Amino acid sequence: MLSLMSSDVSIALPEIRLDLISKYNVPGPRYTSYPTAIQFSDQVPFADLLADADRDFSSGADLSVYVHLPFCESLCWYCACNTVITSQHGQAEQYLDYLAKEISLWQRHFPRRLRLGQLHFGGGTPTFLRPEEIDRLSKILHDAFDFAPDAEVSVEIDPRRLTAAHVQAFRRLGANRASLGVQDFDPFAQKAIHRIQTYEMTADAMHWARECGYTSINFDLIYGLPHQNEETFHRTLQQVKELSPDRLAVFSYAHVPWMRPAQRIFDKEGSLPTPERKLNLLKLIIQELTGAGYVAIGMDHFAKETDDLAIAQREKRLQRNFQGYSTKSGLSILGLGMSSISQTGGSFRQNEKDLDAYKRRIDAEEIPVAKGALLTAEDRRRREIIMQIMCNLELDYAALGENFGCDFPRAYAAEIARLAPLADDGLLELSPARLTVLPAGRLFIRNIAMAFDAYLDRTAGRHSKTI
Ligand code: SF4
Repeated sequence: MLSLMSSDVSIALPEIRLDLISKYNVPGPRYTSYPTAIQFSDQVPFADLLADADRDFSSGADLSVYVHLPFCESLCWYCACNTVITSQHGQAEQYLDYLAKEISLWQRHFPRRLRLGQLHFGGGTPTFLRPEEIDRLSKILHDAFDFAPDAEVSVEIDPRRLTAAHVQAFRRLGANRASLGVQDFDPFAQKAIHRIQTYEMTADAMHWARECGYTSINFDLIYGLPHQNEETFHRTLQQVKELSPDRLAVFSYAHVPWMRPAQRIFDKEGSLPTPERKLNLLKLIIQELTGAGYVAIGMDHFAKETDDLAIAQREKRLQRNFQGYSTKSGLSILGLGMSSISQTGGSFRQNEKDLDAYKRRIDAEEIPVAKGALLTAEDRRRREIIMQIMCNLELDYAALGENFGCDFPRAYAAEIARLAPLADDGLLELSPARLTVLPAGRLFIRNIAMAFDAYLDRTAGRHSKTI
């Protein structure tokens, strides 16, 4: 253990080697999908994407629906989401009209009334909608779909500008999980990212959600933001522990100013933490959260031992998709709303990213898909390999070989050989029967998965750094 002194706190930190961070901190995907969204193309025939969706709708399985609600009142300067910044709340009412029309366009392809096993509201800020608009959204969805009795319904909540009525309206809709954007409680860091959110706002949101029956509450935190340091982030973590969320997603800040120009301000100010400091923040997070009884889940997530996510990881049922880690396996995802992404067994589809283009397509009675990807058999095999690394932290060669009908170590000999240097650095173990990610390798899961990514040469420079 290292000991790190800041002005009023002595923090003992677990060993993580800075030289390995420098060596492996290269651009790489987060693998919320494989192939990644960068691979999606507008040249894929829509009829083929639709045929694949139709096959999934006919399968009889429950559906997972993602609804993108893009509006935010102000831009947080670190944000990499697809948003519409506006203070005109009337826009949300009209957006609901378009969502209803989009669902009715899809309903023409449903062989029967479909049932939802999972529903997620992301954004943007879903709670930008007024409570009465949330009730209208509820009616639109309940009119169109049945809900499974054990459906997981989750909503991303911005504790700023929130009332108990928003939280209750989503609960009436069926929401049982809430994810609160927190990022950092330090006022100085909050000012630097243009997101002022007091501890009390987060505590109120948490209280309202617990009071009306949400069973799992997640906090999103980000490390590597401007002006963060060990002392202030230590304080943030103490405040987080006081509130005791069931899950945490602790993301490394993704600096991609070529895609998100607002992030350039951080370069101008020179306020981003050094790699050494960022590493110390990461050590602090691991120490404080595991010390408080949270279990590390896959990459950059933590959950209480009793939370479904920790149970799914123990039982090797963990899944990964565009919303992060999930406990429900094998559900097709139908994305609704501007920029949303749909996923079936054999394809991905992404809606128009621009709000006006999205509306124009729907006005023309067209399903607003802008691009997508059809997966080859080899894509599917590599997707399975990469998801097993990201979720289960191991590859069982015999099981994969049986699944794929091949001699796995022979078929993927080049990829396994590429991982030898990472094994030499103590990040993973390679035996004749399996690949196992070691505790020190958890930070480098993206690098390990990258060995199996057939498209990496074409996309690497367009991703954020892996650590
Ligand atoms: S509230 Fe969320 S989605 Fe909106 S700008 Fe801030 S970080 Fe981005």
